[in-house]
Amino acid sequence: MNTKYIFVTGGVVSSLGKGISASSIGKLLQARGLSVTMLKCDPYINVDPGTMNPFQHGEVFVTEDGAETDLDLGHYERFLNREMHHTNNFTAGKVYQSVIERERRGDFLGTTVQVIPHITDEIKNRFRAVAKGADIAIIEIGGTVGDIESLPFLEAARQMGLEAGRDNVLYLHVTLIPYIRASEELKTKPTQHSVQKLREIGISPDVLVCRTERPLGPEMRAKLSMFCSVPKESVIEAPDCESIYEVPTVFHKQGLDEQILMLLRLRAQSKDLDGWNEIVRRLKNPKREVVVALAGKYTDYKDAYKSVNEALIHGGIANEAKVRVRFLDTTDPKIAEQVADVDAILVPGGFGDRGIEGKIRVAQLARENKVPYFGLCLGLQIAVIEFSRNVLKLSGAHSTEFDPKSRYPVIDLLPEQKSVKDKGATMRLGVYECSLKKGTLAHRAYGAATISERHRHRFEVNNKFRKLLEDAGLVVSGVHAPKNLVEIVELKDHPWFLATQFHPEFKSRPEDPHPLFRGFIAAAVERAQARQAHARA
Ligand code: GLN
Repeated sequence: MNTKYIFVTGGVVSSLGKGISASSIGKLLQARGLSVTMLKCDPYINVDPGTMNPFQHGEVFVTEDGAETDLDLGHYERFLNREMHHTNNFTAGKVYQSVIERERRGDFLGTTVQVIPHITDEIKNRFRAVAKGADIAIIEIGGTVGDIESLPFLEAARQMGLEAGRDNVLYLHVTLIPYIRASEELKTKPTQHSVQKLREIGISPDVLVCRTERPLGPEMRAKLSMFCSVPKESVIEAPDCESIYEVPTVFHKQGLDEQILMLLRLRAQSKDLDGWNEIVRRLKNPKREVVVALAGKYTDYKDAYKSVNEALIHGGIANEAKVRVRFLDTTDPKIAEQVADVDAILVPGGFGDRGIEGKIRVAQLARENKVPYFGLCLGLQIAVIEFSRNVLKLSGAHSTEFDPKSRYPVIDLLPEQKSVKDKGATMRLGVYECSLKKGTLAHRAYGAATISERHRHRFEVNNKFRKLLEDAGLVVSGVHAPKNLVEIVELKDHPWFLATQFHPEFKSRPEDPHPLFRGFIAAAVERAQARQAHARA
């Protein structure tokens, strides 16, 4: 069978949840027995998002093969329950970089190198490469239609319609239908304009996915259908949902998968969404609730911790618990008050020294008060610094990231990192194997002797201090043996205190919650129950 392409564009405004719409469609088609792959094109000039501030771009998602990618790849992995790789995301910068490298090599001798055809050819080659072998390739074009930057991508998408054949290509436009409170009306004009913009490029959308706060109603659908030249059945309503995991079902109920199969002339099996529906059911009917304090830096920008938030939700699904996340302000001197009534504490990954002392204090409170603690990457380094300062009494112990002159550099760079000059894609990235120590919390949680997890950091536990730390009771329960690097630490006389140098959140899925998040939330549930029993007594 030919690979079928579904291009997903966005209109009117950004942040419409195009990635979630694309992932949900992927899930529905996968549930029909089709093999689905996904691709995200980002129109900016950075070669990858690795050097961008999470405030601007949200979390950087790390793939198995160590690519630093757009956070939508996280949605793709979580919805489809399969791995994405570096080929599943590329930016305008990467496309230009490879075309310019080839120009320098002399591949185009004698020709003028231009956006059309050279840049668009490079983009199409990448489309085809990622689509190879899949029944369906869903290609999401970042940005909003009308932006200068996304033009080459849209042009390439248009050309694909011509080259692959119209039966093999579907254009789906995700758009906004704003509600004007003063006149109590939904408005279709912005959508009409954005569809006109698409048509200027030569793309007529086959399907409209309409983000809306209010139900569309038959009249609105008819109007959108008429003005945008899309059959009524292909006008799909995408209301705000309590959980993103409900979106596939919302689309399915409106017949979106049927419609796509028809437009792409595909015959597929009847759907199998039972497993997925069970997840949504559990999510919407929790038996209990826990509060997890998240000691991060980007407290006003939730997308910065997307995968951590999702992994906590998955841990909740596994324990039939609703997880409320309380974002802490770690620069607040009264941080202790913020965590006095929480069921668990999580310190996520991070860079830069703002709020570091607050995070160290939070780790101390968790250790001393026996509050479940989960440290991710920086969260492990924080736990080790805290232990060194307050248990080993190494006053001033620190990471050389924050205090290059520390007397006790318990966290430090390996020699190979010290010589790194370029900042892009030079961290310890992607999967590394980790051997687990028998009988530890980590070993019990994973139920395996070796595991592999994804990394994104430069600094490591300094092995010079390892014996001292272990003798004082810090358990090193996971190591990357080939380089003898500390991967997991935990505490013995504590209900649940565990920290990882890697980022387990990237591997958690709603259909397969990560064992450590499962265990962490179970510990939070236990603490919540003990506190409630105590309050009753
Ligand atoms: N800044 C720390 C390092 O580079 C931690 C990185 C992270 O948490 N991802 O090692």
